[in-house]
Amino acid sequence: MRRVSVFGATGSIGESTFDLLTRQGGADTYRIVALTAGRNVRRLAEQARVLRPEIAVIADEALLPDLREALTGTGIATAAGDAAVAEAADRPAEWAMSGIVGAAGLAPGFRALAHGGTLALANKESLVTAGPLLMEEAARHSARILPVDSEHSAVFQALAGEDMDAVERITITASGGAFRDWPLEDLARASVAEASTHPNWNMGQRITIDSASMFNKAMEVIETREFFGIDPDRIEVLVHPESMLHALVSFRDGGMIGHLGAPDMRHAIGYALNWPDRAHLPVARLDLAAIGRLTFSAPDPARYPALRLAREVMAAGGLAGSAFNAAKEAALDAFIADRIGFTAMSGVVEEVLDRLSGQGGLGKPATSLDMVYDMDRSARRIAGEVIGETDRI
Ligand code: NAD
Ligand code: MG
Repeated sequence: MRRVSVFGATGSIGESTFDLLTRQGGADTYRIVALTAGRNVRRLAEQARVLRPEIAVIADEALLPDLREALTGTGIATAAGDAAVAEAADRPAEWAMSGIVGAAGLAPGFRALAHGGTLALANKESLVTAGPLLMEEAARHSARILPVDSEHSAVFQALAGEDMDAVERITITASGGAFRDWPLEDLARASVAEASTHPNWNMGQRITIDSASMFNKAMEVIETREFFGIDPDRIEVLVHPESMLHALVSFRDGGMIGHLGAPDMRHAIGYALNWPDRAHLPVARLDLAAIGRLTFSAPDPARYPALRLAREVMAAGGLAGSAFNAAKEAALDAFIADRIGFTAMSGVVEEVLDRLSGQGGLGKPATSLDMVYDMDRSARRIAGEVIGETDRI
């Protein structure tokens, strides 16, 4: 039986992974090694009772007694804390889902690579903060990273059997998020609730808000660069409100290969779970005749400053990705806590990058995860200062 772990099992990606594992036979098909969650003990315990992992881990240490109680008599081991989440990744598994949100997802995914199996990578922050280190670690252990972002899974599928030398351009699409059609002058007053509703995708709150600000797409541009090793100036973002064409690869002979599908992450997750086979998956089939038309436009730089920041981060290179992600996470926390307005997020991130760049070292290559974490801490500290100086709107 294939040994499988799921990190971030109770999240949006985690629940979709749970759904597919269960549909594909659950504990009768897979030997589930570890299931982890941040704080949702109740749901983690429910999943554990179904999938019967060796261990269930909760990141919040204060919740260990609750987890123990919830799993009494099951024989499933329990643990808690960030270190325990990462240690769970040391348990040999042939397939692991990296589905934690934020920089917290880096360590478990990185450690899971040591088993030389497959890492299904939803946690894009891993590639944004430590792309070269992650890819090197995968190569060192002959492990495979399969993308679990709809756009990157689409590119991966479009590239099957193709030569990267023949690729002219990679285009990833963006829905434009919750505020695509809002007047620009209203954006500063957008509420957390308004930013937390996505027109097409049902996702965790953080990535949903990042979709409205396009920080999600900014991270995905960097993810594209790290995953496919393509120059930043050959990566393009295309606004496509219907979220049905996920990506396009343009080749030097003028041909383009695109990937279409319903906006349902179970496609990308199921692709990574069953690769190189294609399994029957429970996603809606597109009826293009009924849909009639798909629309496209170039992103408006005034509406989405995050896209420009991603270009600057890629130009700086090295530790800039870690600084960018940490500043973005801090700005997002401050927006969710109603301490800064929606449009202030990009201003905070830009200011943090400027201050760090003034101090030097932003573009220094990351040669260890410690360097990545040091930069993460510096950026969060400076972001705290900048947020303190920022007016509510
Ligand atoms: P989510 O907020 O719904 O779930 C996050 C999961 O991580 C939960 O299980 C939570 O308990 C756990 N978690 C949160 N903080 C943690 C911490 N500090 N330590 C350990 N565990 C922690 O998020 P999501 O929408 O499922 O996104 C997960 C990742 O996948 C993100 O990196 C996101 O960018 C990426 N992604 C998500 C989607 C989507 O459709 N949701 C699509 C593409 C990529
Ligand atoms: Mg995506």
